[in-house]
Amino acid sequence: MLKRLIERKRNGHALDAAEWRDLVFRYARDEVPDYQMAALCMAVFFRGLEPHELRGLTDAMLGSGGRLEFASNHVRVDKHSTGGVGDKVSLVLAPLVASCGGYVPMMSGRGLGHTGGTLDKLESIPGFRTDLSLEQAVRQTDRIGCAMLGQTPEIAPADRKLYALRDVTATVASIPLIAASIMSKKLAEGIAGLVLDVKRGSGAFLTDDKDSLTLARTMIGLGESRGCTTVALLTAMDRPLGNACGNAIEVEEAMDVLRGDGPDDVRDVTLALGSEMLLLGGVCSERDTALSVLADALKSGKAAEKFGQIIEAQGGNPRVVDDSTLLPQPLVQRPFTASHIGYVERIEPREIGQTIVAMGGGRQALGDVLDHTAGIRFSVKPGDHVEAGQLLAVVCAATDEALTHGVSGLERAISVGPKKPEMLPLISHRVSDAGVEEFT
Ligand code: URA
Repeated sequence: MLKRLIERKRNGHALDAAEWRDLVFRYARDEVPDYQMAALCMAVFFRGLEPHELRGLTDAMLGSGGRLEFASNHVRVDKHSTGGVGDKVSLVLAPLVASCGGYVPMMSGRGLGHTGGTLDKLESIPGFRTDLSLEQAVRQTDRIGCAMLGQTPEIAPADRKLYALRDVTATVASIPLIAASIMSKKLAEGIAGLVLDVKRGSGAFLTDDKDSLTLARTMIGLGESRGCTTVALLTAMDRPLGNACGNAIEVEEAMDVLRGDGPDDVRDVTLALGSEMLLLGGVCSERDTALSVLADALKSGKAAEKFGQIIEAQGGNPRVVDDSTLLPQPLVQRPFTASHIGYVERIEPREIGQTIVAMGGGRQALGDVLDHTAGIRFSVKPGDHVEAGQLLAVVCAATDEALTHGVSGLERAISVGPKKPEMLPLISHRVSDAGVEEFT
């Protein structure tokens, strides 16, 4: 019977919602062998899914587990990023939006491949716990407007199992499978609005622009069909976001942005996503108002104070917001300088992400313990003109061996040459149910 379903999908026919549900539920209960599920994923990889199948698969994965059950009638909103390097936006955005009156039950992931993960960054805050139960997350969101937690084992367990299978069967990079996987987890948060940060460029999960747009549209269609208004911004990942890449130093940079400082690109992406969240959450009805409410919360210290409340509620030391020396500090550092004059032509984010993993800041195998201090702090951006001997970056680590990995990674990732490079616009598209707006 299962063989028939695989055959039908392989031949380009659709399965109905009941078939997806039965299959996914049985898979979650270990009643379907991995080899048959892998064959089906490969058939989906090549044949795609009809919109009704995509909804059927997403509903099935969502229904395979629990959700955040809120009794309150707050309008809850969240953000999801398809993943980047130096992307610490969630650390700023969640407290910022909550400090403006939004409700944000934010469920995040760990580093995946070359991209960093919000949970790993948060866990560099001494004492911070991300393993909240669903009940704790609900209570905290209602009480202080935000909870920042990991995907609990109860959320979409079928996706957890299926993702691990896709990872080893070369079926991750399938737009319908990615969309169903992400949206099944987001819909479990009980949110009414979702903003997606879909990355473009060489460091993005999907490097083809057409694919990024298709993924955005697919997730928007799914969200809308399930009562969650969804919009997407397409943002640049052809260079790292901000100056700091690595867990603890990204937290430090996020604190700078929360206090009204920090790099412009992190601030601009955060404000753009945040304004969408305030609109989706009904906190503001005009974009300009939303932007000025957010800017005021950064300037007044309200956003930083909210992050302190979240840290305290989750067992961490809230004093890190004002004193970044309380974060784990690198034992060794090494400067990396330009060997000749020219323009910074390239800082390749994928290479930087892989270098941080090699330095111990990300996982090479499940269960690896991270060095939260491993990272790279840039002093320049692509397009900057530099002199011979000018500082380009500082590598931070716990050991000399990790520093050596960092320096050789930088040698591969950075190039200085005669031409000022063309970079992608920081925020290039806004996609919603109504269509695609391109910013020129
Ligand atoms: N992230 C997910 O959660 N699922 C995917 O399939 C890809 C990225």
